[in-house]
Amino acid sequence: TSEPIRLEDHIRDIPDFPQKGVLFKDITPLLQDAKAFHAALDRIAAHYAGAGIEAVVGVESRGFIIGAPLAYLLNCGFVPVRKFGKLPAETSSVEYALEYGTNVVEVHTDAIKPGQRVLVVDDLLATGGTVLAAIELVERLGGHIAGISFLVELGFLKGRERLEGRDVFALIKY
Ligand code: 5GP
Repeated sequence: TSEPIRLEDHIRDIPDFPQKGVLFKDITPLLQDAKAFHAALDRIAAHYAGAGIEAVVGVESRGFIIGAPLAYLLNCGFVPVRKFGKLPAETSSVEYALEYGTNVVEVHTDAIKPGQRVLVVDDLLATGGTVLAAIELVERLGGHIAGISFLVELGFLKGRERLEGRDVFALIKY
């Protein structure tokens, strides 16, 4: 019989990245392990089965890696939230503070329809600033946030508190 896959065994700690004092959670070992990657996606998809998700929004760049296959599994479309200047058509943009500096992200204004049930995904929840920016873009366009999902949650940074009252799901918590 095969043991259940322990996803946390496929997350690697990198000290002092991207700057001194930060312990970076590297998800690439999980991505490169076929069974772990498959299990992670299946578990997130199972959590949202029957939730009526109509679009998956992924935040550049690692949110794309999770979001696109998740959209496929949930049988809905994928909408990229990208860094400033990357999207070709009309965009809505928001500036936000992140763990290391500030950033501007954008979405195509016609990518989300009013009332659409949206699942926002990223690889990791730290302070919550990145995903809050994506949420603001979706809500500005009239989308409904039906869920927010991550592979990893750094609980000690209290991002979940900033997402109070919303459905937040993370596979691995530290
Ligand atoms: P937040 O905005 O929640 O503070 O930071 C989360 C964002 O920064 C996510 O887009 C995530 O990809 C990135 N990030 C911050 N810290 C880490 C980390 O330790 N590991 C990974 N993989 N991404 C991180």
